[in-house]
Amino acid sequence: MSETYDVVIIGGGPGGYNCAIRAGQLGLKVACIEMRGTLGGTCLNVGCIPSKALLHASELYEAAGTEFEALGIQTGGLSLDLDKMLAQKDEAVDGLTKGIEFLFKKNKVEYIVGTGRITGPGTVEAETADGTQTLNTKNIVIATGSEVTPLPGVEIDEKRVVSSTGALSLEKVPGKLVVIGAGVIGLELGSVWRRLGAEVAVVEYLDRILPGMDSELAKTAQRIFAKQGMDFHLSTKVTGVDTSGETLKVSIEPAEGGEGQTLDADTVIVCIGRRPYTKGLGLETVGIEPDQRGFISNDHFRTSAENVWVVGDCTHGPMLAHKAEDEGVACAERIAGKAGHVNYGVIPGVVYTAPEIASVGQTEDELKAEGRKYKKGKFPFQANSRARTNHATDGFVKILADAETDEILGAHLIGANVGEMISELCLAMEFQAASEDVARTCHPHPTLTEAIRQAAMGVEGWTMQS
Ligand code: FAD
Ligand code: NAD
Repeated sequence: MSETYDVVIIGGGPGGYNCAIRAGQLGLKVACIEMRGTLGGTCLNVGCIPSKALLHASELYEAAGTEFEALGIQTGGLSLDLDKMLAQKDEAVDGLTKGIEFLFKKNKVEYIVGTGRITGPGTVEAETADGTQTLNTKNIVIATGSEVTPLPGVEIDEKRVVSSTGALSLEKVPGKLVVIGAGVIGLELGSVWRRLGAEVAVVEYLDRILPGMDSELAKTAQRIFAKQGMDFHLSTKVTGVDTSGETLKVSIEPAEGGEGQTLDADTVIVCIGRRPYTKGLGLETVGIEPDQRGFISNDHFRTSAENVWVVGDCTHGPMLAHKAEDEGVACAERIAGKAGHVNYGVIPGVVYTAPEIASVGQTEDELKAEGRKYKKGKFPFQANSRARTNHATDGFVKILADAETDEILGAHLIGANVGEMISELCLAMEFQAASEDVARTCHPHPTLTEAIRQAAMGVEGWTMQS
């Protein structure tokens, strides 16, 4: 039996590792158990980081082939070294995961490589390469994250029929790629392989892409991605993938039923969502019952079991790394007796395609559905001077504000760099700013951020251009 910990965290992803580091900073005795062999969870190992490394490299590759010449840059003999592109992605992952090990040491977090299991109130077992270690602890934090949602009837072999994980390491560029699910992963990884030369078809069950995001944003995005060459099959379901031949045969039919057709593919990516992962965690030993969809419920990160806490993808809310991170930090602060808090109304979501798509707060669809009176300001990048000099005029900024108080209720952007730009609006919303506060804030010229200011001016109808 080991000494008593203040906190034992199961899972070393953004939820778990940020919780561990913050707990260490607050002087708590903390251990973090991670079974993967590297820290950083889905995000650093097989999610945010490797996907962004490939999005960045493939965007430059495509630009070199299609945009450079018009700028007076002759490249000549452009070719793809896929192995090298994948290797630089792996290097980024490797450097960042090791960086967290360093931060653990710096903040006195004990890192246990193994599989954690709750065995009762205040006890966790870690199955390690050296045997089983029992840890006594005052608090347990569950941060075990999520896994790929399988599609019944379609077996993932991570070679030809892949999840997002396999799609980050394809050995060659597929001639034909079928993406199942027009969500964030489908659009991001579909974009990567399209830019590298694949013919991409996207099959989506619903009648729109990016469900949950502002529908005006999603419609604009779909139009732009279609122009880039993505072939969308909306309101369509996949009924099976025949893997017997050299070419995969993907059977699709209208979501409502009806006559089907077959799409040929060299590779299929299944990305229809993720589900909470709590397998073998021993939840029953402390009386926790996940809900029907497998999520563990929480009240300010406390589960139904005393001194057992939960953060990140395995509890409710958007499955995003920064949401998990914020919860991890706030949870550690609560365990230390502080008032840790997450403002769920201001969690941005970004799709890192080209153009990028970024959203925060309520969508126009949500405001309409709840009958809230709102004002809207919208500004196209076509009328922004920096967007024009950069030849990146697709998209717009839309700001929604309360009709009476002018408080910003939501912001929805599509355009180059909007994933970086949205933080300005998050900060404004965090301070409960009025759209006029943003409209009267001096923005540097010429920048893309001026489009945010102009959209904010547009809420009151005094936009300077357009
Ligand atoms: P995870 O990161 O899943 O970490 C949980 C960890 O717990 C895992 O490492 C797992 O091995 C470990 N674990 C589980 N059970 C046990 C156990 N019993 N014992 C020990 N260890 C255990 N989000 C963004 O915000 N931005 C993005 O750009 C983005 N891109 C993504 C791209 C892809 C392809 C994918 C798949 C996801 C992406 N996400 C992105 C989502 C993001 O990765 C997750 O929201 C985030 O990782 C959740 O953090 P977490 O700590 O809750 O869980
Ligand atoms: P998602 O929920 O974003 O999209 C899944 C899509 O698949 C939806 O459009 C859904 O309608 C569709 N779908 C569901 N069942 C289907 C079926 N049987 N046939 C066809 N379509 C079907 O999920 P994802 O793209 O797999 O991503 C998983 C999670 O990872 C998301 O929660 C997302 O937040 C996170 N993620 C975030 C980022 C980012 O922040 N940039 C990037 C990648 C992943």
